[in-house]
Amino acid sequence: MSNRRNFLRTAAVASVAVALNSFGVKPEEKKPEAVKKGKKPIVLSTWRFGLKANEAAWEVLNANGRALDAVEAGVKVPEGDPKERSVGYGGRPDRDGRVTLDSCIMDEQSNIGAVACLEYIKHPIMVARAVMEKTPHVMLVGDGALQFALSQGFKKENLLLEESKKDWQNWLKTSQYKPIANIENHDTIGMIALDAHGNLSGACTTSGMAYKMHGRVGDSPIIGAGLYVDNEIGAATATGHGEEVIRISGCHLVVELMRQGKTPQQACEEAVERIVKLTKNRNKILKDIQVGFIALNKQGEYGSYCVQGGFNYAVYDGTGNQLIDADYFMK
Ligand code: ASP
Repeated sequence: MSNRRNFLRTAAVASVAVALNSFGVKPEEKKPEAVKKGKKPIVLSTWRFGLKANEAAWEVLNANGRALDAVEAGVKVPEGDPKERSVGYGGRPDRDGRVTLDSCIMDEQSNIGAVACLEYIKHPIMVARAVMEKTPHVMLVGDGALQFALSQGFKKENLLLEESKKDWQNWLKTSQYKPIANIENHDTIGMIALDAHGNLSGACTTSGMAYKMHGRVGDSPIIGAGLYVDNEIGAATATGHGEEVIRISGCHLVVELMRQGKTPQQACEEAVERIVKLTKNRNKILKDIQVGFIALNKQGEYGSYCVQGGFNYAVYDGTGNQLIDADYFMK
């Protein structure tokens, strides 16, 4: 069975490699990835700001707390940090100068909550959790999300900081919307954790692509796209061009691939390869796209993969907190 699986995988990789030639990218030699095994509890999160976020999550996990509480506490760190200009407070605005936030959360019982295009609230992840726990719904957007947040006692605050305002005013001179891969005018914190009880949860939060159209929603608040958790199998979260992640239902795909027996690493690779294939089929340029996935399974094994080099993620598993450069497709 596993030989057959390997054969199928090799065949799939070979066909992607052939497809790659039309991008002018040298086909990559695939070496079998060693499985990265962390100790339980464990938490993973996207980008360098994940290191600080993991510290906050670890406090909860280390005290035998719930993965759900850990991921909420973790992502609140960059959300509340004005120096992080792609998440929460201090995030870059849309093209109308409005900071609009997208967040979602999912627990071990498949409870879900999300907010999209939420303005004036510093911690959208807390509102997403309130949607999950206090409403019969799973997602609130725009004014409705704001009204709900205010009804729950969240404070209305200005999220557009002077620096972001200046950048936006500069951007207005050309008004060209062209998100550049790995340039920090976007980025999301996605966090997934396995607690000491063996339960998985995840959270994902962002201000989205800088200078997006007002009302644009990316993958980050969409369960199945920017985040997915299945407590029997594993969890995944994403960052990068949200439109591409939504197109393949990215994180649901990663978790389903793990259900079929792939390691987290293999599952992330296959999801990225799907994006590459669709990009080619749609005659779009691959080098304009960045998407990164991180995944964790029920056994504490983890992995990550992205379209282009430059994406990293933080892992805290009791042996410490480390930043890892993700492997990538375009070599
Ligand atoms: N995925 C986010 C979005 O599309 C942005 C990012 O992670 O870079 O809104």
